[in-house]
Amino acid sequence: MAQTQVLIVGAGPSGLVLALWLNRMGVDLRIVDQASGPGTTSRALVVQARTLELYRQLDLARPVIEQGYPIRAFNVWTEGEHRARIELGAIGAGLTPYPFLQVYPQDRHEALLVQRLLEAGVRVERNTVLEHFEEDGDTVVAQLRDTAGNTERVEARYLAGCDGARSKVRDIIGAGFPGGTYRQVFYVADIEGDSPALNGELNLDLDEADLLAVFAMGPGGHGRLVGTVRDERADRAETLQFSDVSQRAIENLLISVHKVNWFSTYRVHHRVAEHFRVGRAFLVGDAGHIHSPAGGQGMNTGIGDAINLAWKLAAVVQGRAPDSLLDSYEAERLPFARRLVETTDRVFGFLSANGPVAEIVRTGIAPRITPLLARLPVTREYLFRTISQTVVHYRHAPLNTGTAGRIRGGDRLPWLEVEGGDNFFAPLPRPGWQMHVYGHPRPEVQAWCDSHRVPLRSYPWTEACSHAGLARDGVYLLRPDTYVGLAAGSPSVHVLDEYLRDNALSL
Ligand SMILES: Cc1cc2nc3c(=O)[nH]c(=O)nc-3n(C[C@H](O)[C@H](O)[C@H](O)COP(=O)(O)OP(=O)(O)OC[C@H]3O[C@@H](n4cnc5c(N)ncnc54)[C@H](O)[C@@H]3O)c2cc1C
Repeated sequence: MAQTQVLIVGAGPSGLVLALWLNRMGVDLRIVDQASGPGTTSRALVVQARTLELYRQLDLARPVIEQGYPIRAFNVWTEGEHRARIELGAIGAGLTPYPFLQVYPQDRHEALLVQRLLEAGVRVERNTVLEHFEEDGDTVVAQLRDTAGNTERVEARYLAGCDGARSKVRDIIGAGFPGGTYRQVFYVADIEGDSPALNGELNLDLDEADLLAVFAMGPGGHGRLVGTVRDERADRAETLQFSDVSQRAIENLLISVHKVNWFSTYRVHHRVAEHFRVGRAFLVGDAGHIHSPAGGQGMNTGIGDAINLAWKLAAVVQGRAPDSLLDSYEAERLPFARRLVETTDRVFGFLSANGPVAEIVRTGIAPRITPLLARLPVTREYLFRTISQTVVHYRHAPLNTGTAGRIRGGDRLPWLEVEGGDNFFAPLPRPGWQMHVYGHPRPEVQAWCDSHRVPLRSYPWTEACSHAGLARDGVYLLRPDTYVGLAAGSPSVHVLDEYLRDNALSL
């Protein structure tokens, strides 16, 4: 029987990212997909700032930025009038090196990930479906079948279900998928046309309960319309044409469409799996959570899941951590998925509510208060942090501990410009633990890092460090996914040793 350390089922963005991280960390893996090739449609457009930050580790942020297109502002329209413009650059400046929404269509994104995997010597096994698997002691045994009908049994230490919303892995492990289904049908259309809304930014029409958002997809009048249809039209989702969708919303944004390059409809559910781990199997990405595309969060959340899980799987299969470390995957990612689904549900509910009161709030009140709220530092920062996913933290998960300044175990480290660059994770040769000190590292901290072969990065103490909430001379032990595992304001070797002992980790 063939053997591997990790079997990945599904080569969408979640599975591909998991494969890339595992491979970089030296884990033996196989990745299979029932489809004959990668997706060829644009689907998820936006790569959020937090994904780009994490992508730096594998030098993926650079090509996504070079080949994509940044959206630096969004606009609110009602009654054919432009009501508000909010600059993301101004809001996110100082918080991240990427204060914008990076448009990079999913087909190109997947092609980049596949190419990187190939360069690393990993080929996605296409036309290969997971039929079944079962646990057998310290392994799982999976049955795969190719399109010619040949079956193969594969033994793996762990299995990652990155197999999308209709996950077979989820069925097999018996994790429920509670939630609901929106009555509206979503459509996406990639168009070429003329409009003041095809101005390189994001434009949102609030007039009608049939939502319409327009994303620029580069210069030259290329754009993505994301909208909803309801009523009796929603009942014939499979046969809907572009001509069936609300022309009023399109007219409200003064769009004249010359060409529709791609049109697709899909029904959206809001659901979160009851568990992300059962035994030796994990759910990653859409297999674990699905929700409305409002906010462009879905694919980014799957990528975040994959990076969270990858280093833990690597540590366990390489004998540097006990199997119980893998429980922290669900502890960290499931609460975030639940919050996300609630938030996107609320936002979508507001944008698509019907009736006179909803209409007054949406078209009369919201366009007036949005620019005011965006001027308040607290709300604008909250808005940017939420959309960009830089708000995500794992403070309440057991793996993370301590406080230094305002930064706690489980936090994303604040981003700072420092002489010659920034503090943000110049990639290590291989993703791994690292120590950050702002100020002067104590000699015993240096010695501890040397003895554990943990790279120590120290940065001069500046006003910006204090502003960001860091503690002078404190230590921040960063996990391989760059979240703070341990923060200690008065560092001692004892605290560092205790952290490793409590979590049975060797670095
Ligand atoms: C029309 C459309 C528009 C969208 N627009 C947006 C958007 O604007 N913003 C946004 O954030 N998201 C959007 N999405 C959702 C986004 O595409 C998903 O969130 C994203 O693809 C999830 O990635 P994933 O890797 O978790 O799963 P998927 O991309 O679904 O990949 C799962 C893979 O698993 C494979 N697979 C399934 N079962 C098996 C099996 N038994 N054996 C082997 N292989 C299997 C499938 O072939 C597939 O390749 C859109 C989706 C669609 C369909």
